[in-house]
This record gives sequence, structure tokens and C-alpha cells, in this order.
Amino acid sequence: MPTTLFTFATTITVFLAISWSALSIETYDDYQNPEHADFIEGDIMPDFPTRNGYPNRKWFNGEIKYVFSSNFTEAQKEPIRQCCRELANRTCVRCRETIPLDIGFVYFKNEPIGCFSQIGFQHSWYQIINLGPGCLKNYILVCHEIIHALGFDHSHNAYNRDDYVRINFENIKEGQEHNFLKKNDTYDCLVPYDRESTMHYGPLTFSKNGLETITPLDGNYTGMGQRKELRQSDIDKINRMYCFNNCTATTNTTTTTTTTTVATTTTSEEPTTIV
Ligand SMILES: [Zn+2]
Repeated sequence: MPTTLFTFATTITVFLAISWSALSIETYDDYQNPEHADFIEGDIMPDFPTRNGYPNRKWFNGEIKYVFSSNFTEAQKEPIRQCCRELANRTCVRCRETIPLDIGFVYFKNEPIGCFSQIGFQHSWYQIINLGPGCLKNYILVCHEIIHALGFDHSHNAYNRDDYVRINFENIKEGQEHNFLKKNDTYDCLVPYDRESTMHYGPLTFSKNGLETITPLDGNYTGMGQRKELRQSDIDKINRMYCFNNCTATTNTTTTTTTTTVATTTTSEEPTTIV
């Protein structure tokens, strides 16, 4: 190997090693003080303006690399690992902790500022999932954020949600209306709309007056907003996207009929309420 190339490679390696080390001891923190109201849908971090399609947000080989911030206790790590185990059991997605020189990973933080994530792989050095104390009480809450990071938005924002629920904007807290806007560019993974998805809001999420913000059109509230289990629909979406490449980017322009099995992302009640 030419000397210059070797020197260059060595320099890069040392730089990355030092950088990783700095991160691991928590000297790296550019995300201090986020306001919840600034987060889209309560727990979704703002996106980079140049990125608006989900198809390019999959994790390579379905593997999420992650690292815990240094103040996680072993007990706090457990719900993350539990979610990873369930994903490994039911999907082809795998989690693994980072090793030196890894780039492009989830940095789990546990600041008491709520739960939030970005949607999909961000093609950056790292991306944050924050899990405040309330989000660590239940591994399904953790799964909710991880599923965001896998590339899925909330269900009730799906382009076809109006076929299943009514959004009552008059009951939504001021400043939170954006949480309920319909997304037209979400993945269509050919999984039916499921109000019981762990990615769906409950009927009172972000209510300002105790009245419903989301009303199921068929009057069936069963399981809406639940955070007790990963639904089969959640699993199916992940498998279709990651294991079978069956999700197609859609821009909802299809007002065609026949898509009974079309549900884009799922949604769940939100972590802002879980701080
Ligand atoms: Zn969410």
C-alpha cells in the first residue's frame, strides 16, 4: 500500500476512534433542550429539509446499530433490549450495540424531556432516540420509537386514515394540530389500517377539553392507542419493508378503490404525554 494511502487511512481511523470515544463518554451533546412543541407529532424529531421520502430510510441489512448514553442503568437498558428481542423473534430486523468505528447508529438518551425519534435512517453519523423515564416503563413504548426509527410514521397520519377515523380538530390543543395532519408520502406496505397498532394515537391524545381528538368511524374503540403489545400489523409492515421489499413509496394520489389492504404507517398515541 502506498505510504500516503496508509497514512491517510490511519489518520481517518484514529479520528473516528477518538470521535467514538468522545461520544461514549457523553461529551458530545448537540441536542440539549428541545421543546416538545417543536417535535412533529409529539415524538418525531424534525427532519432534514432535503429529505422527504421514506424509501431511502431503511437501515442497511435491516440492522440497527445503537449505543446507550453513559447514564443509562442496566434496568433502563432492559426495555430496549426487550424490544430488540421481539423484533428479532418476529422480523428480520436486528439490533446490535456499536463497536468502535461504527457510524450511522442510534444514540439512546434518557433525558427527562419525553420520547422522540426521527423517522428512518438519517444517513448521519448518529441519530437520537430519547427515552425519558416514562418511556422506559414499558418496552412497547420503546418499540414505538424504534419503529419510527425504522422508517414508519404514525398510523393516523396515513393517507387513507379518513376511511377509518375522524379527526376532531376543534378538540386538539392549540399548537398540536400538526400532529394530526395527513401525510401523503408515507409508505404503503399493503398492511390494512389498524387502529390498534402501537403506532396509533388514542382517542384523547392531545385533547384540550377532554373530548375526542380521534373518533373511529365504526364506533369501535377497542385497543385504539394501546401500548401493551406489538400488533401483527406492526410486524407485517416491518417485514414487508425490510424482509420482502414489499413497501412501495406512495404519494397517495391513488384515490382508486380496491386498496382495502392499504395502510401506510401506523401511529400511536403520543409520547409527549408520556414524559
Ligand atoms: Zn410516535
